[in-house]
Formats: sequence, structure tokens, C-alpha cells
Amino acid sequence: MNKTPSIVRRTSVPSSSSVPLVTPLMPSVVYRSASPDAIDAQYDGTAPGYVYAREGHPNADILARKIDMLEGAEGGLIFGSGMAAITGALFGCLKAGDHVLGGNQLYGRCLRMMAQELPALGIETSLADPTDAAAMKAALRPNTKAILIEVVSNPTLRIADVAGIAKAAKEAGALLIVDNTFTTPRSFRPFEHGADIVVHSVTKLLAGHSDVTLGYVAAKDPALMEQIEGIWATLGLTPSPFDCWLAERGLHSFELRYDRAQHNAALLAEALARHPNVKSVLYPRRSDHPDFARANVLLGGQGGNMVSFVIKGGRAEANALTQAAPNIAFAPTLGDIGTTLSHPPSSSHRALTEAERADLGISEGFFRVSVGIEDPDLLIEEFLSAIEASS
Ligand SMILES: *Cc1c(COP(=O)(O)O)cnc(C)c1O
Repeated sequence: MNKTPSIVRRTSVPSSSSVPLVTPLMPSVVYRSASPDAIDAQYDGTAPGYVYAREGHPNADILARKIDMLEGAEGGLIFGSGMAAITGALFGCLKAGDHVLGGNQLYGRCLRMMAQELPALGIETSLADPTDAAAMKAALRPNTKAILIEVVSNPTLRIADVAGIAKAAKEAGALLIVDNTFTTPRSFRPFEHGADIVVHSVTKLLAGHSDVTLGYVAAKDPALMEQIEGIWATLGLTPSPFDCWLAERGLHSFELRYDRAQHNAALLAEALARHPNVKSVLYPRRSDHPDFARANVLLGGQGGNMVSFVIKGGRAEANALTQAAPNIAFAPTLGDIGTTLSHPPSSSHRALTEAERADLGISEGFFRVSVGIEDPDLLIEEFLSAIEASS
């Protein structure tokens, strides 16, 4: 047998006086150092560089710096999912005996964390209506350390009273965490409105192609960010380099995609509202939206890419609608390049009782649309014919 031992040894990249245009994908888990002194210097922070990918890698840092730019943040971190990001942010602020207040229409898994995982660790939790700052303020306790809200609620698209909540948080000495997934920094920059921590599910609009799960956290206070970074590396909430590489590629077109999707959403909302089989349309730029004035102030006249609507009829009509729209993916996500349709009573809100859903205005005819970047005429035509066929 011929001996070829050298193929096992890693080679360095051939030298080139030109450099790659595209960000290199750097999947290495571990980095070689020249000597014990050199690795010591890196751990001490006196020399830059990477050691082990769970503690950071170039593709995560490249992506993080770009989202930092969008959010007006410094030193943000990429997490393996939006939920990992929320875990990192909450664990960074809370210990046993503390209380955290959440908005009552948070993302489903956040509600579950409030109900199960946090109480199991001795952390008190409660929920209040974020459209009502007085209700949020009244729910604060002497041991409240953090408040977690989303600006636009899912799926009814109500707008939180961010100014009132930020004021109450400051007075109480609690940190305000804003999940900016729905609004994105294109419509809303939480740090300019009193937030202490911004979190994202990068999975959604920022990456935009439904092929990665990733999250992001940035804190205003560098000491708090350092605390969160320790949790990130220790609990292993770190992302894969390939996911970061894909998300950076997606992020390059984020602003274009968002503007187009938002434009489409406004047109679709108007078209849906004119159809006789549509009972109501929820879109922050429509004057019949319950928080229209606040939406205008907070989102600067932008409505985002999410539209909800209620058709006349029940489950049978809802089933008929999705079946009559084969080109609109019936899938419980948001922020994809293509339009997706979800039905909260059978998916995200199935755990609620019918009465609880009714309180939120979520009947069997309720649909949520994440509008994509397709041709708007085609999209409107597909929706209207599906609604027609369902009735
Ligand atoms: C999807 C989502 C999350 C969770 O993000 P994952 O990347 O799926 O873990 C958190 N908050 C909001 C508002 C979301 O839409």
C-alpha cells in the first residue's frame, strides 16, 4: 500500500494577491495558535482572534456587525435561533427570586417559557396588555427586573405603547427587552425608544429565505452584554457558521425585500377589505386599525409586511380558502421571500380555549399573512379568487 500521510494534515489557503469578493465560509471549530503565550494573550483579550467556535467565530461576528449597523447597536451577538436569543437575554437579566413581566401576546414559545421554564427556575412571571401602559405599570412588582414586549403583536397586529412602557420600566429600574422581529430595524429601532436590550429571530425577515434559524441580541450596557456573552458560550447558544453565512447573504437584500413586501402588504390589505366575504382586515396603516395613531407615530407611517384578516364563516370556509390558494404556502412562519399564510386557531393559538381566542378576536375565520415580494397584482388575484372559492 502506498503511504500518503500528508492528506490528513490541513493545508493553508494558497496565496493570492487578489482576495475573494464573497465572505468566506469558515466552519473551523478550532483555531491553531503559535504558542501557549499566544493563546494566553487571546484569552486575556490582549490579542485578537478565535479559539473555539462555541465561543465565537468569524461568520457570526460578520453577521452581528451588520445587524448592529441596522439597529444602531454595538457588540451584538448571533444565537442559534430566536428562542436561543430570548433565552440568552432573559438569563442575562434574571436570577431566582426575580420577576419578569411579559406582553400578553408574545410569540408562543415565549409564552410557554413564561408559564413553564422560568417558574421552574424560581423566576416569577406575569403577563399584561402592552397596548395599555397603565396595565403594564400596575403589573410591576418590587422584584421586577425585566419587561419583554413585541412592538406589533401576533396575530392581531396591535401596537404596544412603547413610550409608556419604557417610562414605567425606567422608573421601576427594570430592563426593557424588545423583540423586534416583526417590526425590523427598517420600521422601528428599539434603542431610540428606551429599550435596554433588542432581540431578533433572524430566521424571519432579516435572513428572509426560510433556510436558517438564528437569533440576535444586543444590550446597551456593555457589562450586561458581557454577562449575556458568558451565558451564550456556556449554554452553547452559539450559531453554525454556515447558517451565519447564509443569513449574511440574505441580509444583503433585506432592505429591498422589506420595502417591497411592505408595499405589497398595503395593497393586499386594501384589496381584502373591499371583498364582501372579508369581515375585517387588520393592518397598522389602515385608519380602522385600533392603534392607528400610535402605529403612525412609532412606525413612521410604515405598516410592515404582516396583514391579518377574518373571513365570514368557520373552519369549513377556512379549509376551503387554503385549498383554493395552491400557490400561497399555508405554513406557520413569517418573513419569507414568498407569501405565507397561517391560521392561528389551528396552529399558534390552538392551546387557547375558544373563549380565550374570542377575547383576542381570533375566530375560526382568522388568517395571518406574511406578505412576500411577489408581483402584487398576481398576489391579490390569488387571494381574492381563493376567498371567492371559499364562500
Ligand atoms: C419566530 C419568532 C421567535 C422565535 O424565533 P426562532 O428563530 O423560531 O427560534 C421569537 N419571536 C418572534 C416574534 C418570532 O416571530
